Amino acid sequence: MIVGLTIIEENMQDMNIKYMQQALDIARRSYHLPGTLPFGAVIVKNDKIVGEGLNRTYEIFDPTSHGEIEAIRDACQRLQKTDLSGCNLYSTCEPCSMCVSTMYLSGIENLYYASSLIESSEFFGRLANFDSKWMRRINSQDLRVEVGRPVEQRKMSSTQILKTEALLVFEEFLKQNPQTNMTN
Ligand SMILES: [Zn+2]
Repeated sequence: MIVGLTIIEENMQDMNIKYMQQALDIARRSYHLPGTLPFGAVIVKNDKIVGEGLNRTYEIFDPTSHGEIEAIRDACQRLQKTDLSGCNLYSTCEPCSMCVSTMYLSGIENLYYASSLIESSEFFGRLANFDSKWMRRINSQDLRVEVGRPVEQRKMSSTQILKTEALLVFEEFLKQNPQTNMTN
């Protein structure tokens, strides 16, 4: 019995390594693709890859184009749904706060990661030695603290205006048969 369990665990470990290798292969595509960075991710459901992503931030001028976000977008498109429950995400680097938020919003169940956020910060620090354009505006540890704060406590100035009108937009939407705007 114990032997059987061990074999299952070893098989799962082999699968996890196989999927992380795929994510690393995606990260390696950045060597030859201008505007991309070496951060790759895959999303797996029922032992099948349903999403792939590479950091394309500087290729498509999109600060949200992290490997994990690209993989989530790809999986949602392929599955034609925004609910990724039952999916696992394999990322070549520990996800930042934005990516973790999106994983929660989409229902990703398990995360596997290779390098850490601290090591990614060091990588960007070394890039910044080549060119100051690689300097991070905020490091990942500070970002996590900052976005977790209540709106009035963040360093970013945030001002609430036209609240009543915005609440009426909610009300009007609810009156207009909202089911028609939901595809899943
Ligand atoms: Zn990220």
